[in-house]
Amino acid sequence: MRYVTCNNRKYRWPDRPVVVICLDGSEPGYPLSDGGGYIDRAIENGRMPYLASIKNRGLFRTADATIPSFTNPNNISIVTGTPPVIHGISGNFFYDLGSDAEVMMNDPALLRVGTIFKAFQDQGARIAVITAKDKLRRMLGHELDFEQGSAICFSAEKCQLTTQSENGIDDADQLTDLPPPDVYSGALSEYVFSTGLKLLDTWAPDILYLSTSDYIQHKHGPGTPAADAFYSMIDHHLIKMQAHDAVIALTADHGMKAKHDSAGQPNIVYLKPLIEELLASDRFRIILPITDPYVVHHGALGGFATIYLADPADVQPVCHKLSAQKGIELVLEGPLACERFSLPPDRVGHIVVISSAESVLGHSQQYHDLSALSEPLRSHGGLSEQRVPFILNRPASQLLASTTLRNYDIFDAALNHATG
Ligand code: ZN
Ligand code: ZN
Repeated sequence: MRYVTCNNRKYRWPDRPVVVICLDGSEPGYPLSDGGGYIDRAIENGRMPYLASIKNRGLFRTADATIPSFTNPNNISIVTGTPPVIHGISGNFFYDLGSDAEVMMNDPALLRVGTIFKAFQDQGARIAVITAKDKLRRMLGHELDFEQGSAICFSAEKCQLTTQSENGIDDADQLTDLPPPDVYSGALSEYVFSTGLKLLDTWAPDILYLSTSDYIQHKHGPGTPAADAFYSMIDHHLIKMQAHDAVIALTADHGMKAKHDSAGQPNIVYLKPLIEELLASDRFRIILPITDPYVVHHGALGGFATIYLADPADVQPVCHKLSAQKGIELVLEGPLACERFSLPPDRVGHIVVISSAESVLGHSQQYHDLSALSEPLRSHGGLSEQRVPFILNRPASQLLASTTLRNYDIFDAALNHATG
């Protein structure tokens, strides 16, 4: 048996195409307070017949995502098979102490390990990676050799700008008849599936990784017509992928919860005014690692924040103050949070704050533009969005029911455990 090693994990060489899908924001409905999850509700409503059939013969479980339950740290966990303390990506956004700057975490220079894709390409595998948003592309494609003709990596967002030297393919927009999608649309994810399927048909990747956008999930709850239509689109593509005898593995980067009251107003805990009751505003810095250029989704309001203090002696009183606040589930000192959530200590502040399931954390009222939110707020980032689906279209009987799964075990499950 041939194996490839990456970050101290061994993966079996695939003898058929392996398709791993990160279905952004696919809340599995856990605990069952939100009326169930996207996939289960779509199955119930008869919109995912293929996944309904997998429920009986494949692996249908849930797993834990990485905290913070945001897109970048979880995608990078999935494609490296490691937690953030190893790969270094602690959010979509972080405070770089070295340069005293708040920076986006989309630069591969911030990655501390190689990807499973690179390890397989080095051994001769053909790799195709398609992401909805361009913010992930350079990290997912880190160190891939695009000159050899054995790797492709592009985003649906920038599908019209692909080149052989940067993406391993010229004119990726020619892969499908679909028009180039708007970045704020469910069509962005459909584009990912459509082009992925075309590559499976024509280019024969050994490993295909698809990462979608959570535009639909930020706006629509499980079982709603818009959500069901989106998951039905996915099911149609999965059926066609199955025709290639592919191993299909499906997980998510995080769940998604309603964060508003019965009148549709967002439940926001603004941190700045609370801390200002104890400290002058130049004595602390609040980082909201959900922040990314796509604010229409969520207004930069998520369930996780980290706070840097000018004087570490202020940690205790600030922790005490925030712990007593309604809408906050957990306040931890930085080192304890890093230990509990396997985060990189040099990229986390003195304090970590996590909101409750029905709330989000904000900086201050002026900081957030809520006018872009056209629907009542749904978001993620905390412990309440940590559960994600973990699905294989084949049995994996060696994966014991007692094993706690992480979403970053999905390549292990697909390559080492899928049978039949
Ligand atoms: Zn996401
Ligand atoms: Zn999101």
